[in-house]
Amino acid sequence: MRAFTLAALFAAACLSVTAAAVTAAPAQGTNPAADVDGARIAHPAAGEWLDNGRSYFEQRFSPLKQINTANVKDLGVAWEYRTYSTRALEGSPVVVGGVMYVTAAWSKVWALDAKTGKEIWAYDPQVPGAWGRYACCDVPNRGVAVWKGAVYVGTLDGRLVKLDAANGKPVWDINTIDRKRAYTITGAPRIVDGLVVIGNGGSEFDARGYISAYHADTGKLAWRFYTVPGDPRKKPENPAMAAAMKTWSPASRWWKMGGGGSPWESMSYDPALDLLYVGTGNGAPWDRNDRSPGGGDNLYLSSILAIHAKTGQLAWYYQTTPGDTWDFDSTSHMILADLTIDGRLRHVLIQAPKNGFFYVLDRATGKLISAKPFAVMNWATGIDPKTGKPIENPGARYKDKVTVVMPQETGGHNWQPMAFSPETGLVYIPAMDGAAIFAPSEKFVWKPRAWNTGNDFAAVSKAVMAAIQSGKPPPPSTGYIKAWDPVAQKEVWHQQLGGNWNGGLLATAGGLVFGGGADGIFAAYNAKTGEKLWSIDLKTGILAPPVSYAVDGQQYIALLAGWGGAGGLASLKDPTTAVVRTGTNQGRLFVFKLGGKQQVAALQPEGNPNVEPPPQTADAATIAKGFDAFHRNCTVCHGFFAESDGVLPDLRTVPPEIWSQYDNIVLGGALADGGMASFKDLLKKDDVTAIRAYVLDRAHALWDAKKHPQKAAK
Ligand code: CA
Repeated sequence: MRAFTLAALFAAACLSVTAAAVTAAPAQGTNPAADVDGARIAHPAAGEWLDNGRSYFEQRFSPLKQINTANVKDLGVAWEYRTYSTRALEGSPVVVGGVMYVTAAWSKVWALDAKTGKEIWAYDPQVPGAWGRYACCDVPNRGVAVWKGAVYVGTLDGRLVKLDAANGKPVWDINTIDRKRAYTITGAPRIVDGLVVIGNGGSEFDARGYISAYHADTGKLAWRFYTVPGDPRKKPENPAMAAAMKTWSPASRWWKMGGGGSPWESMSYDPALDLLYVGTGNGAPWDRNDRSPGGGDNLYLSSILAIHAKTGQLAWYYQTTPGDTWDFDSTSHMILADLTIDGRLRHVLIQAPKNGFFYVLDRATGKLISAKPFAVMNWATGIDPKTGKPIENPGARYKDKVTVVMPQETGGHNWQPMAFSPETGLVYIPAMDGAAIFAPSEKFVWKPRAWNTGNDFAAVSKAVMAAIQSGKPPPPSTGYIKAWDPVAQKEVWHQQLGGNWNGGLLATAGGLVFGGGADGIFAAYNAKTGEKLWSIDLKTGILAPPVSYAVDGQQYIALLAGWGGAGGLASLKDPTTAVVRTGTNQGRLFVFKLGGKQQVAALQPEGNPNVEPPPQTADAATIAKGFDAFHRNCTVCHGFFAESDGVLPDLRTVPPEIWSQYDNIVLGGALADGGMASFKDLLKKDDVTAIRAYVLDRAHALWDAKKHPQKAAK
């Protein structure tokens, strides 16, 4: 026990002053994050939001209840802040001492006065636009971590940057990746015991996933844990890698292709166990036949890992999708909670990953407590309670045939965070139902830094077209908020949303659940019953999760609006989405309070000039070649059938000067700064000519439909 000295008394007095002051407005020139440490992140004051999911347990539950079921009808916009971006906004603001730290597309960071929205500082890490090509799913960032006076952000191009929280000036800026590979960072760092932990993405390309811990003060690497094994001719990095090696088939030389397992998003931490939990992604390539011919579980793909935070050694793992072949990342949000199950208090970890099962694990041991489907699925019939492994439907592994799989590749639930209310005992899931079509490449050819899934999107598009022509189009995807009882493993209520690809959620002690959707509607629901109590049209599509905080006794709700991401960029034009309805995807941060009166401004559509496309001179064979090349290289950003939803420009309605610059843009990289990188390593001039011919064919079809809408409707 520490001696009771005058210095200790003084320190205790300072602490209590700080604790009382944390929800007051910031004083000029002070550093509001100065005292943030592990004890505070574990137990934030009621008005604070100190970590991506508020605290290490990542429950996304605010104990504030000034805004409640009785008065939420009076909620309105207090202030709005423009991010001047048109790409996906997926961030959770961190709020400490009356200052909000928020990130936007291209890893930009702002410090704002959380009461007024006044900008304190802005930081742009100058991510090269061409790096956008190495991001599977738009160019988002999900937030910062704060620790002892500094703000930490991972950048899309794989850097980790420490900023002075008072002025936004970089303290250090380090590279965390092999820059010859298509690694990206979109997830928020977490800070545990003075170590900044950061993962990376790239399993759709050529990455070998890993998670790294850096000393917060110096930026020096403390440990690194790879999520899949490397070259078997070399000594494995640790016992976990030696064990994993036995679950892979060397025939494909997976280590040359990357292997995948990217820990690109979710983490949580239990200080009592000193265990850091990390979710890992699918394999690279997706198709196990290309990655590990002959089978194998391929550890630690699509898994939940428990890592000793001090040493980086594996404590336990739970693989949700052994031998994944369907892009079923296990990177969805993980909540730590204490639940009474069968009369016993259990310390659990909860995840509802893409594969459609809702898992409750013992977080000390990784042992399965229960798992049940929360989404429509056809790939498995249940989880074997003895082995903890899924009981696969034998038809689900597509091998050499086109196969329809549910959930879809974007999952029964993706990265959009869930929320847990200890008051209702319910977990709120931004859930989805939908079907994926897998069409294995006839002959898979791996290419460095390219999209290497082994799934042929040209064949997928043809299968979709054939289904539409036969009058049996794939069922539309639907999105929900589902309230799930994690003890009984059953749904308590659901609300169907306008779109499929929607925002993360927040639960509060005011008895409310908040969430927004692709349609730009942000709403509050009764946490017990699901009754919609309030909504507002923000006119901008929503992916991000809301957060709540208080300054000077006033409770606020904050939310970024700006659509896109995996389920946004590659989707067909959907009239229910805000981006199609309003013609713009200008990013904005909205902050709400009771009695807030600010109008939601309608923004000017970005729209392209309504001009006739140039004449088509290509023959049918060139257009057909362009169909394949487009779907194999361009679809994931520019949409199936060149039909963009509007987050990125609709290539069918571009201005005349673009049609004459295809070679300069696609090969020469003329628009690289804006995010359209050169593809000269993947495409030849005649490929580009064919792609242009195909897009022009689609442009003429659209133009003809505009001129003769009745004819086109038939
Ligand atoms: Ca993935």
